[in-house]
Amino acid sequence: MTALKVIPLGGLGEIGKNTMVIAYGDDMMLVDAGLAFPSEDMLGVDIVLPDINFLLENRDKLKGLAITHGHEDHIGGIPYILKEMPIPVIYGPALALGLLEGKFKEAGLQDRTTLRSVKPRQRVKIGCFEVEFVRCTHSIADSFSLIIRTPVGVIIHTGDFKFDFTPVDGEQFDIASLANAAEEGVLLLMSDSTNTERPGFTPSEKTVWNKLNEVFANARQRIIVTTFASNVHRVRQVLTAAMKYNRKVAILGRSMLNFANISRELGYMSFPDGLLISVDQVNDYPPDWVVILTTGSQGEPMSALTRIANDEHKRIKIVPGDTVIISATPIPGNERSVANTINALFLRGANVVYGRESGVHVSGHACREEQKLMLNICKPKYFMPIHGEYRMLVRHAELGVECGIEPDNVFVMENGDVLEVTKDKASQTERIKAGVILIDQNREWQLDEDIIEQRRHIADDGLITVVVLLDDAHKIVAGPDVYMRGVILPRGLPAEEFIIKVQEEAKRILSNTKVIEKMNGQDLTDFLHGALSCYFENEMNSEPLVLIHCNFVGDEGASKSPLSQTRSLGTEKRD
Ligand SMILES: [Zn+2]
Repeated sequence: MTALKVIPLGGLGEIGKNTMVIAYGDDMMLVDAGLAFPSEDMLGVDIVLPDINFLLENRDKLKGLAITHGHEDHIGGIPYILKEMPIPVIYGPALALGLLEGKFKEAGLQDRTTLRSVKPRQRVKIGCFEVEFVRCTHSIADSFSLIIRTPVGVIIHTGDFKFDFTPVDGEQFDIASLANAAEEGVLLLMSDSTNTERPGFTPSEKTVWNKLNEVFANARQRIIVTTFASNVHRVRQVLTAAMKYNRKVAILGRSMLNFANISRELGYMSFPDGLLISVDQVNDYPPDWVVILTTGSQGEPMSALTRIANDEHKRIKIVPGDTVIISATPIPGNERSVANTINALFLRGANVVYGRESGVHVSGHACREEQKLMLNICKPKYFMPIHGEYRMLVRHAELGVECGIEPDNVFVMENGDVLEVTKDKASQTERIKAGVILIDQNREWQLDEDIIEQRRHIADDGLITVVVLLDDAHKIVAGPDVYMRGVILPRGLPAEEFIIKVQEEAKRILSNTKVIEKMNGQDLTDFLHGALSCYFENEMNSEPLVLIHCNFVGDEGASKSPLSQTRSLGTEKRD
């Protein structure tokens, strides 16, 4: 019997780039295709995507994509896939598709797929799969869990969720649909693990209102609020508070404006035209008439709030007594930059309301009791925790067993692992290649892992360049010249002396004529590189990145060689 294959390409063992392949015979579908943000050691990387080679190899099988919600870690990878291959159809919530449309237009990708928005309880066909979209509650409006009916049975993919029983948009979690699926019998549940380390229940989005109301009531000057641009519910509450306290709202940051416009157009929030003012008008109003809603909740260096905090914003300056509300918590990895922003805001005299205990933010993900509730409603035979770092997947797996799932039926997997499921059996079988693609957004191009490694190398130990001109018999004609950047020298050794030592060492290595006269240019370069690297390791106990240029008399372009270029720098200070 053909088995259903479930293959995570991203989102397991990490927070971000959620991308799940579901395949049966010659039919394949995707649930979400997200991006992740880089860790601090990924120097110069802007975004991280899953390796999509598996998709490219199986492009003929891919019948479509179902989107659970419009967060970047669920849709941000789609344009990059479309650049490489078409996707026959993409079904998803209108808000997510509205965001994608803009991205597609910018990148000229409109013709690479067909977008079809779905309503709650709508069922669509993707190849041999029937996908039912079930309204769920999360920190972005229009979120869905998916019930996927496959030839081997029913599987449920929760998407990101929490159980918010008093959602601010009145769109309640459609628990009845999940329960119906449970009556049919759920073969496999894949459930969001993000908050599995937190006990209890995540408070309702509505609880944020009380605290916002209190802060707005007490503020005597301007109020500056930052949150995730995508948190439509939160933005909506901020706008409502502004209206209640007769304040005008200036929106700062492109993504915040984009989200507000799309959400308003699609009816996810409404506000009167006169509510918004432009940044230029902020200073025309008394301070207690103004709210500034801005991006920068993660301390992103270029964001409006970070620039305001550092007094680098052209139009908005912090005035002592301003109230700043950080209505978000840092994504792991951003703690330091957020803390720096908060420090800078306090330093300029702002009253900053922030942190988990302040009540101005609640998570969009289920805590442990809610995860148990999901397991209880769906009563799956097999369980795969998804969306979380490895320890979270393990903790969530334990919950599954606590809730009565056979331990052998719980699968803690990694990206690239393949789970094969039939009606009465599930097992982890092969592994496919599942790496990452690193993108430098300015150059819109993929970065090689080698480049990142070189950058780390230079960051750790600096760079030393040695340039030498040789004749046919490999005798030195000019040089060796030595240049360095970011190198820490042995204690007490002046740079000039160190350079002389390196030059002498290079000459000594090249004087070994018996060894080098038979080498070709490349071998000679490699030989000098190896010998000098050893020398630096022994002498300095460090491993700088070493670049060698061996030029040969009579070589075409020798006059334009790095030697002649670098020589003109003369005795420039070299450290
Ligand atoms: Zn999400």
